[in-house]
Amino acid sequence: MRELVEHLARCHKLDATALGQLLRSAVAEDDVLQLLRDTAVRTARQQFGLGVYVRGLIELSSFCRCDCLYCGLRRSNRTAERYRLSSEEVMECCREGYALGFRTFVLQGGEDGTHTDTWLRELISKIRATYPDVAITLSLGERSEESYKTLKEAGANRYLLRHEAANEELYASLHPSSKGLQHRLDCLAALKRCGYQTGMGMMIGVKGQTIEHIVEDLLLIERMQPEMVGIGPFLPHRATPLGEEPAGELRLTLATIAIVRLMLPHALLPSTTALATLTPRGRLEGILSGANVVMPNLSPTSVRAKYAIYENKASWGKEAAEGIAALNSELETIGYHIDFSRGDYQP
Ligand code: SAM
Repeated sequence: MRELVEHLARCHKLDATALGQLLRSAVAEDDVLQLLRDTAVRTARQQFGLGVYVRGLIELSSFCRCDCLYCGLRRSNRTAERYRLSSEEVMECCREGYALGFRTFVLQGGEDGTHTDTWLRELISKIRATYPDVAITLSLGERSEESYKTLKEAGANRYLLRHEAANEELYASLHPSSKGLQHRLDCLAALKRCGYQTGMGMMIGVKGQTIEHIVEDLLLIERMQPEMVGIGPFLPHRATPLGEEPAGELRLTLATIAIVRLMLPHALLPSTTALATLTPRGRLEGILSGANVVMPNLSPTSVRAKYAIYENKASWGKEAAEGIAALNSELETIGYHIDFSRGDYQP
């Protein structure tokens, strides 16, 4: 396995068979997982030093027209509490975040039909005019190329749209009423054409996913060369069809993050909230697998519990923007610190 890890670190790619072998053996053997993670950390440190970028996450709306089997915001979940922020509330989040030192705001939300291009354009323009030095990241699901273009022109810089599954059947089984995998990939291509720094990614351990599926995800990521990749464990939400399924495995999640770091040395890789929710040291374990971004929650405290994509989602303490000092202290325990700069992708 040592040769495979070294080859991946040097050439930034492996074939499907080798990727499958590496994932399996990293899950089964401590020394392989450690070697993979240590190599990924070395690569990340060469690019980013010991700084970890922070992004302030603002969850715009828990209304969603989609019906993804795994997600607590799915439209069929009648028990979900729904809310949407007004643009004044979003501006207040930005004001607080800017004062705390955040220089990237991530506007994320369910696919809410009231988020028209006009509403979003005005909001983004206002954030851009008030804070000319921040990066604005959107994560609002599938929209038309025209819409992505409009929002980019209004001042957005980055867009996160996980591809969720590179395998067509797995994608279809998780998103029964969606437009399908090809449409998702078309959206990613449109985002790239519009000039966004673009993020993709997937959950680890969602029902039906095999190691071969993760290999397909990795090959797609390698082919698409996104600027950002979000990877976290699947976590169940009891009011969804996958509510009784087990959470994704920590070791497999960390091995996948480490492989992505070695494939894309310059990419921005978050140590996700899902990882921090799975296990108390999850955020640190992600950094110690090559991740270099964390995304504390900047949403108004009154709505945080309502953005429940899975249960017990971490949004307080070190996962909260107001807990930024505690987060920095936690990072210091492994020799890292928060880097408050905008942290754009730099090839
Ligand atoms: N609607 C936008 C979209 O589809 O990209 C953004 C919001 S969506 C809730 C953000 C991400 O949450 C999804 O890409 C998905 O991978 C993740 N997610 C949803 N349910 C999850 C679960 N049960 N466990 C882990 N991650 C989950």
